Amino acid sequence: MIPVQGVENQTIAVLGLGRSGRATAAALAAGGAHVIAWDDSAETRAGAEADGMTLVDLTREAGWDRQIDALITSPGIPHLYPQPHPAIALACARGVPVDNDVGLFFRSFATAGWDDFATPPRVICVTGSNGKSTTTALIHHILQEAGRPTQMGGNIGTGVLALEAPEDGEIVVLELSSYQTELARALTPDVAVFTNLSPDHLDRHGGPGGYFAAKRRLFAEGGPDRCIIGVDEVEGRFMAGQLAQSPQDDRVIRISVNARLERFGWSVFARKGFLSEYRKGRQVASLDLRGITGLPGAHNHQNACAAYAACRAVGLAPRSIEAAFHSFAGLPHRSQTVAEIDGVRWVNDSKATNVDAAEKALLAFDRIRWIAGGLGKDGGIAALAPHLDRVVKAYLIGHSARSFALQIGQTPHEVVDTMDEAVARAAAEAQPGETVLLAPAAASFDQYPNFERRGEHFTALVQALQG
Ligand code: ADP
Repeated sequence: MIPVQGVENQTIAVLGLGRSGRATAAALAAGGAHVIAWDDSAETRAGAEADGMTLVDLTREAGWDRQIDALITSPGIPHLYPQPHPAIALACARGVPVDNDVGLFFRSFATAGWDDFATPPRVICVTGSNGKSTTTALIHHILQEAGRPTQMGGNIGTGVLALEAPEDGEIVVLELSSYQTELARALTPDVAVFTNLSPDHLDRHGGPGGYFAAKRRLFAEGGPDRCIIGVDEVEGRFMAGQLAQSPQDDRVIRISVNARLERFGWSVFARKGFLSEYRKGRQVASLDLRGITGLPGAHNHQNACAAYAACRAVGLAPRSIEAAFHSFAGLPHRSQTVAEIDGVRWVNDSKATNVDAAEKALLAFDRIRWIAGGLGKDGGIAALAPHLDRVVKAYLIGHSARSFALQIGQTPHEVVDTMDEAVARAAAEAQPGETVLLAPAAASFDQYPNFERRGEHFTALVQALQG
């Protein structure tokens, strides 16, 4: 745990008592704060009270009739759009600062004990619309393989304040969502990564401008030593241009999977399966990504470029990064190869719950036996039509199976309803060299509690095929 600094004898209110809220309350108490807390769920409150927490109804005026020095809120709670949570609205009306665990982390990370360290610990933060978890996990994996002390947390795995106090030379890798970057009152990463931007969560940020502004704070507020920026969208190009003094300024490392970026101070790009690093107009490294099973497809090549750049920024050599790429297993449920059986590759991309993610998954393979369906989303799957020439046959499951069948028209398909049947049919029909891909383009809730359970079910069925 990282005890929060500068809160001794203060009264700090914590809103939201999920995993990160509870960790935040503990870290505040460890720093000497008097913690009061609230959660909208009566069940969660009862659990917190049983653990000895002091509950105060912060959604009512009366809850604020005391000295409260700050309100710390959880990322799931709206603070501005579509409308602020009542407790946040009351804090703002009274001028009480609103912060989150990420802000507290950056205030508390460095300690007096660092004076004895040979190399001060550093923080790499990853934000962006897609690929955050993969990029974060990949950076962490590369650092581990290179023998560097490292921890990973934030929006992935451990909450920031539940991390261990860092040791000499440690590198902490944090995934941060736009909700987290928008609110944090301190944001001072040493290296900041922006993967890409696509319209997402727009309701919470009051439109695309607000969403971009939230992510941009990571770069603008702290002045990281290195900014790694995906420049395949106009927002990334704009931000890279704004942060650099000139195209030659190597404080900014541009990354791309579309363009050959040869004219900049520092850049990393992937084209046709090869990653290139350029510095001051000269190629300094090239790496073949094509045989790396844990990182299939152009979208993962973008993640590879971002992770490569981040690891170069903290001093790793290209060859040690390349070796670690090969041992990266991929994250569960994201283009994850779960088996190779008789020349057939089985891939779990259960996280592809919408058309955009399914498109990325389809583009990562050819000769696909595609397991799709579930609870389809508004707009249907017509947007996938240009990629269906890669599909040998589709096996359609769940609530939307029949509607998907109508939408894919000429592509060979079969409505099989369940995952068991889809896996059995695909196993019977797949030929060597083909890929059986679970990329549902639909939510899982008609048949599963969540996409993880769907992916686990698929994986278990595939493992059973192996006997
Ligand atoms: P995030 O943490 O940003 O949600 P993940 O790494 O968990 O991202 O990937 C989620 C899904 O998004 C994956 O299943 C994949 O289909 C897709 N994806 C991963 N990386 C990228 C990328 N760089 N660009 C676009 N889509 C991606």
